[in-house]
Amino acid sequence: MSRVADTVVVLRKRAYREQDALLLLFSQHHGKISAVARGARSAKGRLTASTEPLAVARMELYQGRSNLMTVTEAELVSLNAGVRRDLWRTGRAAMLADAADELTSDLDAAPGVYDTLVAALASLGSDRDPTPVYVHAMWRLLGAAGLKPEFDRCQQCGAPWSTPPWFWRGGAGPVDGPCHMAGDSPLLPGALQWLRLVDGQLESGEMGRVQAAPAVYAVLDQQVRDFLIYHVGRVPRAFRFWDAVAPMASAPRPKGSAGAPAAKGMTV
Ligand SMILES: [Zn+2]
Repeated sequence: MSRVADTVVVLRKRAYREQDALLLLFSQHHGKISAVARGARSAKGRLTASTEPLAVARMELYQGRSNLMTVTEAELVSLNAGVRRDLWRTGRAAMLADAADELTSDLDAAPGVYDTLVAALASLGSDRDPTPVYVHAMWRLLGAAGLKPEFDRCQQCGAPWSTPPWFWRGGAGPVDGPCHMAGDSPLLPGALQWLRLVDGQLESGEMGRVQAAPAVYAVLDQQVRDFLIYHVGRVPRAFRFWDAVAPMASAPRPKGSAGAPAAKGMTV
C-alpha cells in the first residue's frame, strides 16, 4: 500500500518534530492508519483544521521509505465542532473514539465500526441529550465489532426472560435469577427494557431516541463500560479521563426540555 485515498476520522493527534503532527486515523475502507501530517500544528498550516482530533476529512496519504504514511492532501468534511462545546460531550466523544481504536486493528477495514463512530459523533454534537446517544452508540460499536450479547435471553442458560430479578455479568451480559453468581450486579428492569428496545434499532435507528430515568442510565453506563473493558482487557485512556472530570462536569440538558423525553422519543 503506497498510496491511499479515503475518508477518515482523526482518533489522535500528537506533537511530532517542530510543527508536525503524528496522527492515528480511522479510515472507512482501510482501517486504522498511523501517519505524519507536516505543518499540522502551525496556526496557518493547510492541514491544521482537517487533522484536529475527532474531525472527519477526506485524505490522500503516501508511504515512502518510512513505516509511517504521510498526509499529502486533506479536505475537511466535518470538524465535529458540536462535540467540543462542553466537557460532557467532549469526554463522551473521546470515549467512543478510544473504543473504536480498541475494537479494531491497524490496516484492517471495519466499515460498520467506522459508520457507527461517524454517526455517533454527529449525534453527540447535536442538541440531543448526550447520555442516551453515548450509551446507544457504544452498544452499536460493540455490535459492529461482533461483541454484543443477546438481550432477549439469559446469556448463561439461554432461557427467555421470565420474571425479575435479572443480573449483569461483566463479560457475558444479562443473566437471569437462577443463573446469577456472586459478583453479578442487579439489572434494573428498566435497564433491560432499554437494552432490548435499543437492540431492535441497532442497525438503522436514530441514536438517543429511547429515554430513561437517570438511575437507569447510571446502570447502563456502568454496564457498557464493564463489558467493553472486559473484552479489550484494559481501561482506555479516555475512560480514565472521564472518571477524573465527570464529577466536575454538569450534564447538559436537551434544548427545549427540562429533562423530559424528546418529542419523538420512547420512554422506558
Ligand atoms: Zn439462565
